[in-house]
Amino acid sequence: MQAINTGLFTSPGAVAYLKREPDMQVGQLAERIWTITDGVRRSIFLEGDTGIVAFDTFGTPGAARAYAGAMAKAVPGKAVNTIIYTHDHLDHAGFADDLAPGAEIIADEMCARVIRLRGASGQLVPTRTLSGEHHEMDVDGLRFTLLNPGPTHGTGNLSAWFPDAGLLFSSDTILPNARYGLMPDYHLCNFVRLMRGFLDFDWDVFVPGRFEVADRARFAKGCDFIEAVQEESQRAFAEFVPIWVLEAMQGYVGGKLAECFGDLDGFDEHIGLISLRIVHHYLMGGWGLEDTPEGGLVLADETA
Ligand SMILES: [Zn+2]
Repeated sequence: MQAINTGLFTSPGAVAYLKREPDMQVGQLAERIWTITDGVRRSIFLEGDTGIVAFDTFGTPGAARAYAGAMAKAVPGKAVNTIIYTHDHLDHAGFADDLAPGAEIIADEMCARVIRLRGASGQLVPTRTLSGEHHEMDVDGLRFTLLNPGPTHGTGNLSAWFPDAGLLFSSDTILPNARYGLMPDYHLCNFVRLMRGFLDFDWDVFVPGRFEVADRARFAKGCDFIEAVQEESQRAFAEFVPIWVLEAMQGYVGGKLAECFGDLDGFDEHIGLISLRIVHHYLMGGWGLEDTPEGGLVLADETA
């Protein structure tokens, strides 16, 4: 197990998974902006004046190497000098050591703190941290805005807005479908309100952290969908639905929402798990400090 970075895996049984290099699909979105996917997760990378700015690393050493190879092909002759972590999760940002070990790594201060304390094998600690909601970035000749309006998904989630390209990249938050099953670590207290805040910015292309590139209308529908599940999950209490039973929640919430949201890809297979997760927000009170009305402020104190 020591020969490769293993994240938090402890079993030699995981090595084959960690080593596998998936096929990557790359597409150019604007003059200096590309998107890349392994078929499930998705990210973006940018061509700077002297090097590449990569968002995240993908989720295994093998995927990080495949990401590096795909970037080298798209932007020949330039190395990855900068990595920006969108959030702390290993399946997106766990393997900078396999992607570009010498790069500057930029992250939100809360994300950086979690990563430092976690000590996962392969997840390099950020070298430059940002605090606050809004950052006008000027990196290697590239200008864009990083936004962290508050707790949404994971810790210290940074979304990237490119005004000139009319593009928003927001990882593991809103999706253009209903395929995010378990939704672990979504901070539902403020989630939809903070996500809708991104609609105040001018953009038309939405790049999610998973699945296909979408547009503003599908982003807005993604917000409506999560809000509708929140609404019907609360109604389930009043109707004495056994809210801890997958099939019961699938039938109840799925039945209520099929007409408006049944066209979302993955709806039938995932609505049960999504509503089971969301209903427990109301039962138990949420994820923790992040699920308080001023969650961002509380966590900022924690990092001081
Ligand atoms: Zn995540």
